[in-house]
Amino acid sequence: MEWDLSVGVIYKIILVPALVFAVFACCAICPAADTETREFRNFALDLNEQFRDLGWSDLSIDGVNWVYYRKSSRSRPLIFASFGEGFRNTTVILGGVHGDESPSVYVVFKLAQFLKANPDLYKDKAIIVAPLVNPDGFFSKPRKRTNARGVDINRNMPTKDWTRTKKGRYYSGPSANSENETRFVIALINRYKPAKIISVHSPLCSYDYDGPSSDLGDIVIWLKKISRNNNMPLRRYNVFPGSLGNFAGVERKIHTLTLELPSSAPQHGPKYFEQFRQTLLELLDQAHSEK
Ligand SMILES: [Zn+2]
Repeated sequence: MEWDLSVGVIYKIILVPALVFAVFACCAICPAADTETREFRNFALDLNEQFRDLGWSDLSIDGVNWVYYRKSSRSRPLIFASFGEGFRNTTVILGGVHGDESPSVYVVFKLAQFLKANPDLYKDKAIIVAPLVNPDGFFSKPRKRTNARGVDINRNMPTKDWTRTKKGRYYSGPSANSENETRFVIALINRYKPAKIISVHSPLCSYDYDGPSSDLGDIVIWLKKISRNNNMPLRRYNVFPGSLGNFAGVERKIHTLTLELPSSAPQHGPKYFEQFRQTLLELLDQAHSEK
């Protein structure tokens, strides 16, 4: 009887709370990444409708194994897909950081479709594709640069020189790393430890490089070559407080390339994918020689 009682006590006091804790802990660590959820299906329907409205009839969210662990402040999934395995030559490629730069969304979604159809392209590397970092800005009417809270994700990264700026297109947020979209990008960097990051923007028509390469670095030499071939200048803009180039390229020594497409007009998305596809594929192939 005494033994039964102690087992019962142990069961009630220790095992039950432990089981409950385990279930809740697992839910907290691994929130739903299930693309069969109603939440994801609604997002997919909205996205496909938006693609049609923009004239991107060849684009669909379907067919790629998207996952998400995080959401925007308007509860839209922050999706990404991974192609290939291993950490040897990993690239993270981002689109739609600014919601009004819609060709960047087209190009990166299209790249994901292209990779899915051509597995040979990533048999020796890993490519992480996040085509719509700022869905709330993209779905805003009119589309806007900032997220739903009015924050420019490319000024919200927690760089050492982060400062709060006044509200507007370049508002850096109430504090560094305050935004779900910013944390999403940082989580991808922390999880996949990329050798390179490519962030597609528009409409400055240039390449911008931040990172560890000197003029002798392979990637910079190669970028100079392709910038001549594509007639797009390679620029080294001043890095801004809170920008990805500053956070990843300058502070963390990750090769960070910003591809600024020539215009933000949605109808140019397909043309830009054709124009820059080869460059993007070659860039994914580039192995870094220094770090
Ligand atoms: Zn931009």
